[in-house]
This record gives sequence, C-alpha cells and structure tokens, in this order.
Amino acid sequence: GSVACRLAKNHYDVDEDNSHIHVNQDIARGTGTGKLLVRVCPAHVYSEESDGTISVEYAACLECGTCLAVAAPGSLEWHYPAGAMGISFREG
Ligand code: SF4
Repeated sequence: GSVACRLAKNHYDVDEDNSHIHVNQDIARGTGTGKLLVRVCPAHVYSEESDGTISVEYAACLECGTCLAVAAPGSLEWHYPAGAMGISFREG
C-alpha cells in the first residue's frame, strides 16, 4: 500500500449498512447488561440515552470480545463484520 496507508495505525472499513452489533433493548435493560456494556467497552461503542436505550457506535468496535463476555444471554448479538470490513490491526 501507499506510505499513508502504512502510517495508519488502525484502519477501519466501515460497513455502513450493516451493524455487526445488535442490542436487545428490553433484555439489556432488564438484566442490567446495558449499563455494563457502557462501562466495559474499551472503545466506548455503547452509550446510554436519556430514555435508557443503549446506542451502538459499532464503527468504533475493536473486536475485543469484552462485551460478549459480560452480556446476559439474549441481550447482545455480535458477529464479526462481513468480509474484509471492520478493523485491521497494522504492525508498522
Ligand atoms: Fe466494545 Fe470490544 Fe464489544 Fe467491540 S467487541 S463493542 S470494542 S467490548
């Protein structure tokens, strides 16, 4: 790739039409998973709206898996981004 490309630390190809993360709002609220997601995600993908809805800035996801580890069953659907979408970690 180009020099600019190689200089980029992390490169995102965002799949604009397809969030790879879906929160089941009812379960997330009922189980407290929503607030947990807001706290644990290192990329601050999740935030809580004033009405308690959890919004998802999925493009910032680092694919670390932490949210999956803490989410109550049924509260979160998470898939790897389609094809070559999502983050690619570059080494130098
Ligand atoms: Fe956040 Fe990691 Fe879950 Fe992505 S996989 S939403 S970065 S906790």
